[in-house]
Amino acid sequence: MKTLRYIFLSILIWVFYVEAFEIRTGIKDYGYRIVFDGVKNYEYLPVSTTLIFKIDGEFKNSAIKLDPRFVKSIEISKDTFTKKTIIYLEINDNMDPKVFSLSNPDRLVIDLKVLDKKEKQSVSENNTVKENKESKKVISKKDSDDVLNKILKSLEMQASDNNSSNSIEIEVPKSFAGRKKIIVIDPGHGGHDPGATANGLREKDINLKVALKLKSFLEKDPRFKVYLTREDDRFIPLYDRTLIAIEKKADLFISIHTNASENPNLSGTYIYTLNLRGATSKLAKMVEERENQTVLNVIKVSANPNVNKIVADMAISHTMTEGLNFAKFAQIYLKRNLKDTEFKRIESANFAVLKTPSIPSVLVETAFITNENDARLLANDKFLEKFAQSLYKAIVDYFFRYKNLVFSKGKEES
Ligand SMILES: [Zn+2]
Repeated sequence: MKTLRYIFLSILIWVFYVEAFEIRTGIKDYGYRIVFDGVKNYEYLPVSTTLIFKIDGEFKNSAIKLDPRFVKSIEISKDTFTKKTIIYLEINDNMDPKVFSLSNPDRLVIDLKVLDKKEKQSVSENNTVKENKESKKVISKKDSDDVLNKILKSLEMQASDNNSSNSIEIEVPKSFAGRKKIIVIDPGHGGHDPGATANGLREKDINLKVALKLKSFLEKDPRFKVYLTREDDRFIPLYDRTLIAIEKKADLFISIHTNASENPNLSGTYIYTLNLRGATSKLAKMVEERENQTVLNVIKVSANPNVNKIVADMAISHTMTEGLNFAKFAQIYLKRNLKDTEFKRIESANFAVLKTPSIPSVLVETAFITNENDARLLANDKFLEKFAQSLYKAIVDYFFRYKNLVFSKGKEES
């Protein structure tokens, strides 16, 4: 009787909510099982302890309770344009996840097997070997900050010496034997989403121009491999943009945007870095709201309510620091190179597009499309070229003056 009722209910759900799914959980002898009932089509991407799912259909639960012994947090967002649901499931690090789908009825199953001490040890031994190799090269946080500050100071001094010259010199090596740095450039907006519009300009066009120019600088340099999230005027959902960065294993993710304000007097360049606690200033708050507009109906549910508020994850906090370090290089070159508009400052905000686990990410706002002087510059190809060149130079220095020093001990400049 129970089975019959179950089948009847399943059919009912299938008929009325073909594209809806629900989440249920259960404790198992091996650990924990999470089932997404009603899921047929999905994409799955594991990134360390974050399991990312892109699911066709709408999520129906009003709240989920997950056992904190197995799962740290779950974040569910709906992309209003693709109608897809994006789920970030953060599992504890002693879990071995298995993801598979079953049919009749359609469901997606996530089995989290608790690794016993022996298994955990063998896994962590593997990791330790890798980590040891890495950590031999890594110097302490304080030392690396000192190195960074030294380099930035010397660059700033160079900048004031070079004030008279109009362009900056870039030495491009003919060949490069090391591992290429992977740069993912994300021209904001596109397609039916023009971004900000004013003074006869559309943000999406400016963003793409800068991105293509930056791409061509990077392509001429054998030390880099470059990808764009879009190369033409098309719409890409925010979460797909971050997925591209993850899939390409980006070493740096740069999202390019153009600022706008109701106040036509606001002008200048800003760089934003990820801050999980949200915007740090009123302006950053406004920019954050505008750039996040394409992701609506964000539901946040967490087994531990603090998880959404505090930066618990080491990978993400490392990402934040490195995003900021890159921003410091970009600041120097943008200040030096752009004489006609002012580089304002580095700010931080909570941008959906910057949520790329383990990838240093920044969002650059070129200038204000709503300011007459800035708009004149944004319409000028030479200005956009200089802007892209400044970012290119910052990328070179970030990786080859700073990172290679910090990550190879004892080779500091004297
Ligand atoms: Zn934008």
